[in-house]
Amino acid sequence: MGGNLPENVLNSRSHFLRGVMKLHRALFLALVTSVAVVSSSAFADETDKPWMNRALDPDRRAELVVAQMTLEEKQTLVFGYFGTDAPWKKYTIAPEALEGSAGYVPGIARLGIPPQWIADAGIGVATQGGAKQKRERTALPSGMATAATWDPELARGAGAMIGAEARASGFNVMLAGGVNLVREPRNGRNFEYGGEDPLLAGVIVGAQIAGIESNHIVSTVKHFALNDQETDRNSVDVVIDKSQARMSDLLAFQIAIEQSNPGSVMCSYNKVWGDHACESAYLLTDVLRRDWGWRGYVMSDWGATHSTAKAADSGLDQQSGYPFDDKPYFGELMLQAVKAGEVKESRLDEMAQRIVRTLFAKGVIDHPVKIGPIDFAAHAQVTRTGAEQGAVLLKNASNLLPLAGHKRIAVIGGYADKGVLAGGGSSLVYGAGGNAVPGLKPTTWPGPIMYYPSSPLRAIKALAPQAQVEFASGEDRKAAAALAAKSDVVLVFATQWNGESFDSPLTLENGQDALIEAVAGANPNTVVILETGGAVFMPWLDKVKGVLQAWYPGTSGGEAIANVLFGRVNPSGRLPISFPKNEGQFARADLKEKSATATYKEGATVGYKWHDANKQPPMFPFGFGLSYTQFAYSGLQARLDGEDLVVKFRVANSGSNDGKDVPQVYVSPVAGGWEAPKRLAGWRKVDMKKGSRTDVEIRVDPRLLAVFSETDNAWRIAPGKYKVMLGSSAADLKLETTLELRERRLPAAWKPTPAQATAQAR
Ligand code: BGC
Repeated sequence: MGGNLPENVLNSRSHFLRGVMKLHRALFLALVTSVAVVSSSAFADETDKPWMNRALDPDRRAELVVAQMTLEEKQTLVFGYFGTDAPWKKYTIAPEALEGSAGYVPGIARLGIPPQWIADAGIGVATQGGAKQKRERTALPSGMATAATWDPELARGAGAMIGAEARASGFNVMLAGGVNLVREPRNGRNFEYGGEDPLLAGVIVGAQIAGIESNHIVSTVKHFALNDQETDRNSVDVVIDKSQARMSDLLAFQIAIEQSNPGSVMCSYNKVWGDHACESAYLLTDVLRRDWGWRGYVMSDWGATHSTAKAADSGLDQQSGYPFDDKPYFGELMLQAVKAGEVKESRLDEMAQRIVRTLFAKGVIDHPVKIGPIDFAAHAQVTRTGAEQGAVLLKNASNLLPLAGHKRIAVIGGYADKGVLAGGGSSLVYGAGGNAVPGLKPTTWPGPIMYYPSSPLRAIKALAPQAQVEFASGEDRKAAAALAAKSDVVLVFATQWNGESFDSPLTLENGQDALIEAVAGANPNTVVILETGGAVFMPWLDKVKGVLQAWYPGTSGGEAIANVLFGRVNPSGRLPISFPKNEGQFARADLKEKSATATYKEGATVGYKWHDANKQPPMFPFGFGLSYTQFAYSGLQARLDGEDLVVKFRVANSGSNDGKDVPQVYVSPVAGGWEAPKRLAGWRKVDMKKGSRTDVEIRVDPRLLAVFSETDNAWRIAPGKYKVMLGSSAADLKLETTLELRERRLPAAWKPTPAQATAQAR
């Protein structure tokens, strides 16, 4: 709860803004005014604007309009401003910007090009902490929780909800789609991401992006790439074998991009192989465009642009969030550079073309956003369902859960009487009803520490009207233990606040471990409910009967938790990350290396792959999660359909409750030769009545059977025998079969057909 937060990060936002920048506000205003002045002259109606013809394809429309632009107008499109006043920079937003937002790019009114109104949107439409007005919106559970649903349809629906609130808030560009691989368990932003496996993260985050963009707005995928820790995030130089990067962090992006074709990619703060990510021609041009064939525009993270010519020539198309950067590299300096021949005008044309083409392709221009009401009641259902489906039941000894018939219930700790915790930083959504626990430090960036007023205690009382439900804050450990001792069952809430700009140890803060020990010592019928960004250590695990991982559950989180505890909802979340036992199970011991370099010696051996390869069983494995019913698997078959591996099996709900399961298919070459013994190759979320059976067929993406070679710029499946395994987690494989694969080579540019991609995302 902030106690461990280093002082130097408390003002991290202003830290980024430190520097010699002076906003050339006069120039900016002059430009906006001049654009407005000409707006009524040259192109008075639609017949004069052939690019407004919806029958033309987006390339042609963009080509037609860019041809009409002056040099200054093209430059206008590539230079974004912060969307909130920054008094310490003497920076005031343009009247047309939406106060409280992350960004604003002026439009070109005379040509019918609207401004880009930009907001963060990882878990809902976010508001900058410095905003004077904070419009209330719906917060979904964290990205990690959405990944824990293993349900792409749900993720898509969650994205559609964000997009709807964005439109109603007047935003047309969303900074969403965080798909950095959870490679570092301490990373403060893990809660924004999709877990440790590239297939799971890519499919889930891709589905969410597609949902957002279904509202005729743009979403990013971010932060490209290898931005896996917050410690020294602006300076750390990440070094990893490039082939290994293609099979891990980059594969997660690649799959997310294939699933959603996002309008924009946000390049990240860190360096990669010696270059700033936003100046990496390898990432922004070779990988993104040459190999992946992606056609949107690259925007920088806020303060991640470091040059004009180098950045532009490497593939950056838009500088964001000025004055976060030292200089207006793509502002006035871009005009100078083009005039001096340091950046070719044809490159500026291309940048403008990519931006405008995207605005046409995504429907931003044809379907202008309009500020209007938000359907909070409908969206509360979306966020509550997400939290229910993402909650992971980690332990349930003696089937203590679901709760039924207990007369005295103790609820302890975690501000469970007030609300549920949210993660900190730019993704923070201000929910209806304000902060349930105001004043916890830090109260400013990356805070405030926010509890949404969806009280678990209130929801528990509502579901147990016959019981006596008592609350103890946990501040007084003895009083909490005394309450536990006289209760039939104890629900202890433990929270860990993570956020942008700092990394966190995995140990619960503020004596919460000791509180849990004390309570469990007084009453063995103890269930711990964790509201954390990611994995935490559980030194008390053997002493409690139940553990429910609720992540940051969003604005209806209290109800969702109660519904799972009381069996209104049968838990079906599965871990999208491994939970290590202790620090000895981190791939890299120290986040701060002596040099400014972070060397990912583990390569693609991330998460469960690391635990497998190093024979270090985690506390809870990737893919794990319990249910109030049982599932049985049978009939595993693997065959080739053409060149594709197709896996079939049967799932039966053999228990006594309806419920959802997530059978997982893992693959492994008998001869070895991969970064790890096995990889996730597919899964299906199945919803099953008790006593029912269902047949599942999964088509495996061939890249998951291959090894990437940077030298050949291609994937290669080695000929030989492969094991295909079906399990309920990475550590619980129940059935196995083998089959022979022929050698197969796929160029780096290989993509699944739309049908293959859809099959994956079902
Ligand atoms: C974050 C981005 C975010 C941007 C705008 C940066 O600090 O890294 O994820 O989109 O701010 O708020």
